[in-house]
Amino acid sequence: MTLAIHGGPPVRSTPWPPWPPPIDPAQRKLVTEVLDSGLWGATQGGPVVADLTAAFASLSGVEYGVAAGNATLGLFAALRGLGVRPGDEVIVPAYTFVASATAVLLAGAVPVIVDVDPADLHLSAPAVEAAVTGRTAAIMPVHLAGSPADMDALNAVAVKHGLVVVEDAAQAHGATYRGRPIGGLGDVGVYSFQAGKAMTAGEGGMIVCRDRAAYEAIWSVCNVGRELGGQWYGHPNVGWNLRLTEIQAALLLPWLDRLDEELDRRNSFCAAVERELAAISTPDGQDGATRPVSVVPRPDGTTRDSRHLLMLRVHVPFDRDFLIAAMAAEGVPLDAGYPPLGTMTALTGAGARAEPCPAAAEAARDVVWVRQSMLMDDPANAAQIAEALAKVMAG
Ligand SMILES: *Cc1c(COP(=O)(O)O)cnc(C)c1O
Repeated sequence: MTLAIHGGPPVRSTPWPPWPPPIDPAQRKLVTEVLDSGLWGATQGGPVVADLTAAFASLSGVEYGVAAGNATLGLFAALRGLGVRPGDEVIVPAYTFVASATAVLLAGAVPVIVDVDPADLHLSAPAVEAAVTGRTAAIMPVHLAGSPADMDALNAVAVKHGLVVVEDAAQAHGATYRGRPIGGLGDVGVYSFQAGKAMTAGEGGMIVCRDRAAYEAIWSVCNVGRELGGQWYGHPNVGWNLRLTEIQAALLLPWLDRLDEELDRRNSFCAAVERELAAISTPDGQDGATRPVSVVPRPDGTTRDSRHLLMLRVHVPFDRDFLIAAMAAEGVPLDAGYPPLGTMTALTGAGARAEPCPAAAEAARDVVWVRQSMLMDDPANAAQIAEALAKVMAG
């Protein structure tokens, strides 16, 4: 099968919804209030950061939260607060954003890159177990694309080997696993509010946890080594200023009121894409059963997906760059997705260890992404994605 830019008018000629979505009146009001208050930072308290923190702890089903400047720093603070030390090993999936691994490097620890499940592309518990050594200290499951990693299986490995679990929840605000909110399933969960994430203030992060001692340690890491309630210039620990501002929190707190609605919208859109893709088959398929493209399935335990991305797997030989260019010409931009972390020489050069990762390598060849902003569109337009794919693949 060859792919060609088919010609004719593009399938989609109007723009997709913007990201971030336009700010709403509640955000504008709260940001203005914060600006007028003059209390822009949260060094000594900060009511909006405090409310946002409490709301995220509650969303995650845990008691404590610490706001951070971004999720990379949040993951670093979580690892440090949980006692991960230089030289310790931290297991991360091969198919994720690079920051999952660089946060480990920031803590002086060794990222151990292991393979993902070949079907759902989430961290594989058997691969994790096979990679555990005497130096392993932590596992970092990533709730990839907005669907939860297989936390029961990963927690079981952690319990068996005495490891801590840091959930990288950067892509999964509001997701649930077997009916339970993510973020509170491991020892610590970390959300991102970077510009591309499901809730954003341009930048920002949030750390949540259940354990009081972990909370106090992480708070100290993010607040220049201070002790909660301790002397202002005492600094009994080594820590940094990793704080979020009140202005950022004012963009995020009202967003929580519409998160459910946005998740529902993206889920409806994705369900429609899935139906439309099931209806197309290869043009030369004898029985019509061969599907050239399918939606990457979510892990079994997914009860609510935040649909940060829609991952599609292409089952026929194709030239990815050409497919992406041809789809863009049809008005349906796609992303190529992640190269396997183990192939990034900057990481291995900095000491990361990579296990064999054939499933991540395959995903890097065969998987393309539909962006979050497109998933915010009217589900009636989901057909355009299948239509453009069918047109391009028929070339
Ligand atoms: C975005 C992202 C991060 C990093 O978040 P920042 O807030 O940009 O530091 C970490 N892990 C994953 C999986 C991400 O998608």
